Parts: sequence; C-alpha cells; structure tokens
Amino acid sequence: MGRKRSIISGVLVFVMSVGMVMNVNATTIEDAQKKAEELEGQKSAAEAEKNSLTTQLNDIVEDMNETQSKMTKKQSEIEEAENDLIAAKVDENQQYQSMKKRIQFMYENGDTKILEVMMESQTLGEFLNKAEYASKMSDYDREKLEDFQDIVAEVEEKEQTLQTEYDELSDLQTELTAKQTEVEGLLDSNEVLLADLDAQIGDNAETLEKLLADAEEAKRIQQEQAASQSQGGGSWTQPGENVVSGNGYFTHPCPGYTYQSSYFGEIREFEVGGHKGHDYAAPEGTPTYAAAAGTVIIAGYSSSAGNWVVIDHGNGLTTKYMHHSSLCVAQGQYVEKGQQIGCVGTTGQSTGPHLHFQVEENGVAVNPDKYM
Ligand SMILES: [Zn+2]
Repeated sequence: MGRKRSIISGVLVFVMSVGMVMNVNATTIEDAQKKAEELEGQKSAAEAEKNSLTTQLNDIVEDMNETQSKMTKKQSEIEEAENDLIAAKVDENQQYQSMKKRIQFMYENGDTKILEVMMESQTLGEFLNKAEYASKMSDYDREKLEDFQDIVAEVEEKEQTLQTEYDELSDLQTELTAKQTEVEGLLDSNEVLLADLDAQIGDNAETLEKLLADAEEAKRIQQEQAASQSQGGGSWTQPGENVVSGNGYFTHPCPGYTYQSSYFGEIREFEVGGHKGHDYAAPEGTPTYAAAAGTVIIAGYSSSAGNWVVIDHGNGLTTKYMHHSSLCVAQGQYVEKGQQIGCVGTTGQSTGPHLHFQVEENGVAVNPDKYM
C-alpha cells in the first residue's frame, strides 16, 4: 500500500504560485513536509500584507480626523462670516434709512422729483445709479452708503471663499471614506485568506501525522514478516550502521573475520564438486553485510542453508549468505553495499557459527576472491 502511494505521488505535479492556494492533499511524507513549508511561506506573505493594510488604514483614519477638524474650523469661520455679513447689512440699511429721512425732508421743503425716483427704484443700486438725481444727495450720504455696500460685498465674497474651501474638504473626506471602505474590504479578504491558510496548515499537519503513522506501521509489518520468515531459533534483528571495507567491488561480508574454516573449491567428503563458497568462522551474533548493492530475492529459512539471504546485484551476479542466527532484511527489500543483512549463526547444515558466503555468475558458483 505504501509503495503504491509513493508511485502515485511521483506523477502528481503541484503548481503553487503566490496568491494561489491549491487544496491538494499531500500523498507522501516528503510532499506533506514541502506543502507545510509552502503554506507557512504563504501565511507569512499574507501576514505582511495584513500589516501593510493595517498601516494604510491607520493613515487614512488619521487623515480623516485631520480633515474633520479642518472642516469644523472652517464651519466656525463661515458662521463668523455670516454674522459679519448680517452686521454689514444692518449698517448699510441704517445708512439707507437715515438717508431716506434726509431726502424726505428735502422733498417736504419743495423738490417733488426725489420722491418719484425713490418710488420707482426697485433697489438701492438702481436708485444710486440714477445719475441725474445723485447730485441731489449730499456727498457724505453717498460715500457712506458706498462704503457700506463695499463691506457687504467683501464679506459676501469672503463667505463664498470659505464655503468653497469647506466643499473641497468635504470632497476629500468623501474620498477618504471610500478609501477606508476599500482597505477594510481588502483586510476582510486577507482575514479570509489567513483563516483558509491556517485551516490548510492544520489539515496538512494531520495528513503528515497520518502518513508518518502509516510509514511506522508499514515498517513494523515488514519487520514482522521478516521475523516470521526467519526460523530455526532465528528472529528479526534491528540492523546496525553500514560497514564498507576495502576498495573491491565487494565489501567483506563479515569484516574482521578473515579466517576461512573452508574455502571455495575445497573437496570435502560430504560435498559433490567441491565447496561452493568461503566459510568465515565468527562468533554467533557477528553482523553480516551485503557485499554490494542489490535486491534481496530470498530472506528466509531452508533446512540446508538455515536462515539465509540471497541478493541479486544485476547482470547475472548474485550472492548468498547462509546459517544466520537472525536476519535484518526482508524479501523484496533493496539493500546498499555494506548494509547489515543478518547475524552469524549456525542454523541449517552447520557444525559451528560461521557465515557461508557464496558468489554466483548466472547461477554458477565462482571464487568470491574475484570480486573482493
Ligand atoms: Zn560453507
């Protein structure tokens, strides 16, 4: 099952790009770890974006407060100008009224035309522009009235300017409000993205945990299988570190134990065609190692070889290791050169603890020295 999964993951292609979050469940431990890194990277970027947006929002709110206080100040200036305008109009009107009284006095003392002009004129301006009658007014009245009119115009203009400034501030405030809404919207999206990333990080961590547990379980089952294949008092042994000795194509399968209790080709009474390998005498439990990298094609028990291992190195080359007390490998497993495969024993047809090491080329036993 574990093997099948890793094959599937090999053809999956993860396309990750900034701002694009893909919800693909990892199928191998490596993928899950890689995905965890990617998700953390995306989270950091989203958090940086959040900080930037928050800073922008704070700046906008600050600008809005500033604009608001300017508007408040402008408003009170406008009110002041309105009061000034009222005062100016009162002054103007008083002047007009007292002037009318003086003109009426002039009329009551003989000049009838003045009253007619007064009655005909719709506005004060019209009255003043009737040039032929202007001379009838005293220079004092005329100048005074014109002064008051100038003040009224001046105050009106000032009020108009203030109102324009106020409108500009109001437009600015509207713009800032729109910006605030936009940035708040971006912050909301950012929050959604962060929540999504957190959820994905959580899911992925769960997946990773499950994959690790699966791997642990698969390893345990493999060890159990190896232990059940190893019989005759043998059992599963946890392998030690790899040991590679010498520069030969093969490393010594039982380093440190060079004494051969029997050698390749030795003629012995009970064997036909001579001894097929080297026998390295070593104490029970001494580690044995794969002479070269390859696939374990047999890891089990036979009545003659005892607990034995056969490794296929490719190109017709195989090695056999016999009489182990226990094994470290399982059938189908790939082993590296110098990887421990078992422990020396005396299982099968054997008279004492030793490793029988046999090398074959296309099924024919050859002298192991050729490769060592
Ligand atoms: Zn032997």
